[in-house]
This record gives sequence, C-alpha cells and structure tokens, in this order.
Amino acid sequence: MRCTKCGRRAVINLRAHRLALCERHFVERFLEVVERAIRRYSLMSRSSRVLVAVSGGKDSLALWDALTELGYRADGLYIDLGIRRQNYSRISKEKAEAFAEQRGLRLRVFNLKEEHGFAVPELRRGSREVCSVCGIVKRHVMNRVALEGSYHVLATGHNLDDEASVLLSNLLRWNLELLARQGPRAEAWHPKLLPKVKPLCLLTEKETATYALVRGIDYVYELECPFSAGATSIAMKEALNRIEEHSPGTKLYFYTQFLRHRTAFAGERPSAEAVECKNCGLPASGEVCSFCRLLLKSRLRGEKGDN
Ligand code: AMP
Ligand code: ZN
Ligand code: ZN
Repeated sequence: MRCTKCGRRAVINLRAHRLALCERHFVERFLEVVERAIRRYSLMSRSSRVLVAVSGGKDSLALWDALTELGYRADGLYIDLGIRRQNYSRISKEKAEAFAEQRGLRLRVFNLKEEHGFAVPELRRGSREVCSVCGIVKRHVMNRVALEGSYHVLATGHNLDDEASVLLSNLLRWNLELLARQGPRAEAWHPKLLPKVKPLCLLTEKETATYALVRGIDYVYELECPFSAGATSIAMKEALNRIEEHSPGTKLYFYTQFLRHRTAFAGERPSAEAVECKNCGLPASGEVCSFCRLLLKSRLRGEKGDN
C-alpha cells in the first residue's frame, strides 16, 4: 500500500476518506483534524491554559502530544485511583510520567488515597453501580485540580468511536436529556466548573492508536479498568464497526450530522440549580455532592483497610 500523496510506504488506510498515508502525511493530517475540531466546535483558543486528563492510554497521551505539537499550552493530570488489581494504577501512572518526562511537560498527579484516605476499591464497597464510582471521582478531581490551577479548559481523550457509541446508545434509548448534553464541548454551568472538551472527537480509535505508534508513545494497552462493566459500550462499538466495514465513513457522518442537528434536543436541557456542596464547595445537585457522599459513606463504614 502506497501513500496517496507521495507514494511512500503507507502506515494506514483510511477507507472513510479514500486515503492511504505514509507516516509523515498521516501525522500532518491527524494534527489538521485536531485543529479543525478545535476551531469548528470552539473548543479552546491559542491562549487557553489547558489541562489534559491523561490515563496512560493511547488516546489521552496522543491528545497531549498533538496539542503540544500544535502549540497549545497544555499540562497533564493523572488521577491515581489506587487500583491495585493487575497493577492497573501503578502501570498507567508510570506511562504518563515517562511521557511527560521525555517531552519536558508538566504532569500533575493526584493521589486519591493520600488526599482523602480512600482509594477507589474502598469507595466502591457496598456500591451497586459498578463503574459509576470511578466516574464520580474523576469528574470531581479533574474539575478541582483544574480550578485550583487556574486552567481555562479541561480536555479528555474521548475519540470518535467513544462519542459515536455513546450517541448510538443514547439514541436507542431516546434519552433526550443526555442527547442534549452530548458533544465535543460541555459548557461550565457554574463559576466553579470548567468547560470540558474532546479535541479527538473526529478521529477514530484506529487513528489515535496509529498516531501513538508512529509518534513513539509508550502507552498501556489493556487500559480497560478491571472494575469496568463496559459491556454496553463494547456492544455499541462492535455494531458501529460492522456498519463502518460495510459503508466506510458512516461513523463520522453519524456523529458530525448529529452535532449539526443537535439544537433539536436543546429544549431538553434541565435548568441546572447552582447549589454548592456543603463539604467541598463545588457545584452539586443536592446539599452534598456525589463525591463527598462517597467519602462520607466510606468513613461511616470505617473501612480504611487494604484494597
Ligand atoms: P475512560 O472513561 O476510561 O474511557 O477515559 C476517558 C478519558 O478520561 C480519557 O481519555 C482521559 O482523558 C480521562 N481519564 C481516564 N482515566 C483517567 C485518570 N486515571 N486520570 C486522568 N484522566 C483520566
Ligand atoms: Zn506520504
Ligand atoms: Zn463535595
């Protein structure tokens, strides 16, 4: 397979775009698409101070690399959830640290156990919903660190496969409220919240993996959290990949056309009440935010044991 642009050996075949690209032209195009998403969806400006949430996986490290290449000022944040099974937290932290060190970038590490006395396995005890705890913790910590560090915007590594699969699952349930909120930029609805952006939303998982490989980024392969149920999102991704196989370009079209017509769902946005958590002061839907509720419950159980 030869590069459509220069005839050198191609590293990727993008059937959706009828393009085969060599290393150089692939990297060039990848960066262009990141920049296009940033501009088209007004994700950030040149002067924005960006905090990239990095998990040690290919997507978030590729994102950090691309933003830096494009000249954005981006620091990283790794949240150590204290998951010991399969050495999950230790290995992913090492990858994030090694990446930052090699490139002379600033990585902030937030250790949940050191800061709050509990790691995720302890917070999860007695909780019914398998994966919601990680989500609550990550959202809270990302926002808090970004706020304290005076960043303007918080970026995550969600790619097109992630976004399209969430879209499909929201549509299958006709969850209008979630549909109204889904998109590459979530606005801050409170002064103590930061806008959250997804600059990789127009690039597939195959593209982010190839970018990471070509750029020599060492990442955790099996990043699926050992506690993740993950079944729904995997089923949605498989379904979309099968459709994509049959009609290349569908995934991208599905997502970008949704974004064009998204205002149709805008009326479904619930009016957010600006209440501040009694405990931590960050915005909450009740008196105490869901993160602080998790901590309080664990304290009541007195479980400070090992995970
Ligand atoms: P996930 O929810 O695991 O699919 O991850 C989605 C995004 O959240 C990643 O692309 C990262 O930007 C961010 N993220 C996930 N885990 C962590 C972590 N432990 N620390 C910082 N950011 C994370
Ligand atoms: Zn080429
Ligand atoms: Zn709180």
